[in-house]
Amino acid sequence: MKKLLWASAAVIGVGAIGFFGFAPGIVERGMNRWTGAVWPVSAEASAVHGRLTVIDLHADTLMWQRDLLSETEQGHVDLKRLETGNVALQVFSSVTKTPRGQNYEANGGDTDNITPLVIGQMQPTRTWFSLLERSLWHAQKLQDAEDRAQGLLRIIRTPGDLEKLLADRAAKVPVTGALLSTEGAQNLEGDIANLGTLHEAGFRMIGLVHFFDNDVGGSMHGLKKGGLTALGAQVVRESEARGMIIDLAHSSAATYADVMRIATRPVVVSHGGVKATCNTPRNLTDDQLRLLKANGGMIGIGYWDAAVCEPTPQATARAILHVIKVAGIDHVGLGSDYDGGTTVGFDTAHLDALTQALLAAGLSEADIAKVMGGNAARLLAAGLAPR
Ligand SMILES: [Zn+2]
Repeated sequence: MKKLLWASAAVIGVGAIGFFGFAPGIVERGMNRWTGAVWPVSAEASAVHGRLTVIDLHADTLMWQRDLLSETEQGHVDLKRLETGNVALQVFSSVTKTPRGQNYEANGGDTDNITPLVIGQMQPTRTWFSLLERSLWHAQKLQDAEDRAQGLLRIIRTPGDLEKLLADRAAKVPVTGALLSTEGAQNLEGDIANLGTLHEAGFRMIGLVHFFDNDVGGSMHGLKKGGLTALGAQVVRESEARGMIIDLAHSSAATYADVMRIATRPVVVSHGGVKATCNTPRNLTDDQLRLLKANGGMIGIGYWDAAVCEPTPQATARAILHVIKVAGIDHVGLGSDYDGGTTVGFDTAHLDALTQALLAAGLSEADIAKVMGGNAARLLAAGLAPR
């Protein structure tokens, strides 16, 4: 049996190497792009940005064969660029499985693009055929980066960790926070006991679904787009009890409504947009925004085309303003989807462009502070506390 497994692994490996032409870096460069636009930032916006606590609820950097600590032109996020962008905390998500021919309308769960990527990147063999092991590998990569970062990168697991991070940054200690999340709970492999394994590995945010319906719930891009399953309801309850925040990004309308009915803690929609400013299947309706407000949760607005239709700071600001109009100032933040196969108008080193756009849109510094990270800090502090 083991021999057979190795034989098929070798076949897939050769296929993957052929597919990726020996260079996953080239694949990444083709997928995580920047439009090349440059945004002027006024002295006033730059000063405001320097005073902010910036928190981004979603980046997929850990999926790629890249060292967070080396400054690079590749993709959208590394430690140096987080520092330049004055980012206090970056949520790093674990992508474990995406369908071939991935689209926003309808995908089955029978195929997987991540397997050839995992093999092409020569990840440990235990990650080749286990979605749980893929996530544990992402956690290990982040831990390894923290170990080598000489205090400049710090993984956040508790409300106390978050409090200390924000106090240190207020005292001008150079440190950037990192929090682990999952993109789809298919990495539980159908077993609720694995939620404890993920918690132990440091995961503190649980995205229920990704691009296909899985065994916890329906995806907005799935075939059936159904609701929360019995296992999914168990995941919501246990996550809340452990101090893990539920993420409804990519959830079908039915899953979204089901979770809102049973959630006893604020949820996030970590990365997305609103139909009112960009009418794609990826985005939330005004009714969903009102449910989010009632739950006390928040949405992280993205920077890429399917979230805001045009990858500019102004388009992201327009979506943020719409959430403020419908749900109020306390329910919106940032969800870049950096390094998630996205094309963006500015990388994390240039987040001051967004502060500039929010100032130009007429927001006060106090409101900008809530949007850029204040709301996320409040939600994380409450959501990380176990019961
Ligand atoms: Zn996503």
